[in-house]
Amino acid sequence: MKITEYLSRSTETLFSFEILPPLKGDSIQTIFDGIDPLMEFKPKFVDVTYHREEFAYKNNSDGTISKMTIRKRPGTVGICAGIMNRYKVDAVPHVLCGGFTKEETENMLLDLHFLGIDNVLVLRGDPVKSEGIFNPHPDGYCYATELLEAVENMNKGIYQDSSLISPSPTNFCTGVAAYPEKHFEAASFESDMKFLKMKQDMGADYIVTQMFFDNTKYFEWVKSCRENGITIPIIPGLKPLTTKKQMDILPKIFYLHMPDEFKRAVHEAKDDNAAKEIGIEWCIQQSKELMAAGAPVLHYYTMSKSQAVKKICEAIF
Ligand code: FAD
Repeated sequence: MKITEYLSRSTETLFSFEILPPLKGDSIQTIFDGIDPLMEFKPKFVDVTYHREEFAYKNNSDGTISKMTIRKRPGTVGICAGIMNRYKVDAVPHVLCGGFTKEETENMLLDLHFLGIDNVLVLRGDPVKSEGIFNPHPDGYCYATELLEAVENMNKGIYQDSSLISPSPTNFCTGVAAYPEKHFEAASFESDMKFLKMKQDMGADYIVTQMFFDNTKYFEWVKSCRENGITIPIIPGLKPLTTKKQMDILPKIFYLHMPDEFKRAVHEAKDDNAAKEIGIEWCIQQSKELMAAGAPVLHYYTMSKSQAVKKICEAIF
């Protein structure tokens, strides 16, 4: 079922979460172990991230070095099918511009369509770590808007290969990403907002946000979205902090503001276990406030570990 159908049918705040495919070589059981404890809270959908290639360097016996391309976390399509088959819940694969040709992406979307997957989260993707800035594939898409246009075209039966005779349309419900504290590359909040509005105008059905720890910033940003004509549902993304180190690392990776009170409490925590309890309690309070404000869904970043999110769900759902 489409995410938009869940949203239009429900008057209550729904539950969903995101997992990562296992590292290459790990079993799919690691994924199921992360999902099983959360199923009692009746998630309406489970997002599965997608990962482009990374580069590694191999020392050759003749003293030279070869650059190797590896994909550490392949398997998004298969995992989505596995989740739908095992749990009878909708899986939402993430689809990326970075690292893929337009044709590879189209073929992935066809696999999803054939598997009966109705929803996709359309993203540009992060830069390759060693490159620092995002470099699109020479035959791929540069921005999420370009990929979104391709998905919306497939929904109209327009494929990359224009020689196809009477191609069948797909029927994807499309989600897109957004950043209550601004995307790190965006010149300003205004330009980020402009491109988000463009995504809606091109057909995006709903928005999922980057994680945030300061609800005030989220509420201000949602207000600004609405003032700028963005009317589609906005789903807040939440991650419970689970180690002391994350208090310093997460703001650097995701360009987030951490409220002083939260920062102080975590820095004063005697160890990671104590920090985790504080992180869970903070996320519970965030969740309650978002629910009271009418958030359509609370979407949790589990990093495929369910323990902290399970405790939050016990307090919320
Ligand atoms: P875009 O919307 O393309 O925006 C990128 C930047 O370009 C922004 O600064 C924007 O303001 C600007 N911009 C947008 N459109 C245009 C345009 N048409 N012309 C000029 N400038 C433009 N990464 C992964 O690799 N795998 C995942 O599975 C994954 N899942 C995610 C899930 C969520 C909910 C979120 C919030 C992020 C996720 N990411 C994932 C990270 C994401 O790929 C990065 O944040 C990436 O840097 C931006 O992706 P985007 O889709 O927001 O990009």
